[in-house]
Amino acid sequence: MRAYEKNIRKAEPYVPGEQPQNKVIKLNTNENPYPPAPGVEKALKEMDTDRFRLYPDPTCGPLVEALADFYHVKPEQVFVGVGSDDVLAMCFLTFFNSEKPILFPDITYSFYKVWAELYRIPYECQKLDADFRIVKEDYDKENGGVIFPNPNAPTGIYEELDMVEDIIRANQDVVVIIDEAYIDFAGCSAIELVDKYDNLIVVQTFSKARSMAGMRIGYAIGSPALIKYLQDAKYSFNSYTMNQAALVCGVESVKDQAYFEEGIRKIIHTREWAKEELEKLGFCCLDSDANFIFVTHPRYDAKRLFEALKENGIYVRYWGSGRIKQYLRITIGTREEMEELFKFLKKYKGDCL
Ligand code: PMP
Repeated sequence: MRAYEKNIRKAEPYVPGEQPQNKVIKLNTNENPYPPAPGVEKALKEMDTDRFRLYPDPTCGPLVEALADFYHVKPEQVFVGVGSDDVLAMCFLTFFNSEKPILFPDITYSFYKVWAELYRIPYECQKLDADFRIVKEDYDKENGGVIFPNPNAPTGIYEELDMVEDIIRANQDVVVIIDEAYIDFAGCSAIELVDKYDNLIVVQTFSKARSMAGMRIGYAIGSPALIKYLQDAKYSFNSYTMNQAALVCGVESVKDQAYFEEGIRKIIHTREWAKEELEKLGFCCLDSDANFIFVTHPRYDAKRLFEALKENGIYVRYWGSGRIKQYLRITIGTREEMEELFKFLKKYKGDCL
């Protein structure tokens, strides 16, 4: 090792799902198969490119206001970033600065461990139970902060708001972050608790239900005091995180509530049908409330099935470690895409376990 390398911050990066450039049936990164709201396309076509000469609004004003309106909170309670990954990274930097370990589930969004290691935040993973559920008592101990997704990823399991509130209530001396990337396909959001608990931050995204993963918009909602801390960290890092096109398109998406709700309804409908079809084919599906299903088959080896699917142009996600070694995560595509998946699975006799 060269002497200077001692001083280099080393990171083991998060590995995102593949983004193949050829045309495949892409059920591997929980994107939405439908286009964004029609107003987004219109706004892009009519975009005033002369505006690109100028820096974008560092406060992201109109987008913050649209989100504040949508969720019935004050604009001072909304923080916007470049996808929820950016918002979460900023939350880790801002809120998790204790000597005590932060707590998150052992099977969860694998980026949490990456940020904790990058920022040298001590952490302790809490084991999900045998049914892959969060055990709330595990979060009732000394810690430097708590974060978990609801619904969890990659399991898709949603925990009722009462249970989420129990965890927040037990942790009022630290910041609790609920990562709600998939909440629109599930139940009640913890946003309704932000006025009750000033240590709560709820993070959401435009990447899933709003079909805008490519635009990179995420946001956090919390008490004005916590949002101010986040903003101070952001302005100490990069004032202009959100580009002009994302700011304009984000507002258009929020405006069209009917399109948003209809898109969610379609995905949930396809998900429930897909679950039944998978079960008919012998798969065991976790009870997902997200836009994906986490499945295992008692006879098929998950890795071999993953590879066979890929060879046939169908991409799903596979991790291949620990308790989820025999599981695949399948994003809900269009009905036609799911039919192609089932056509393949019906033919697949597979290498048995
Ligand atoms: N949280 C969870 C649980 C996720 O699965 C994802 C998507 N990979 C994200 C956050 C980040 O999504 P984005 O940055 O696209 O908003």
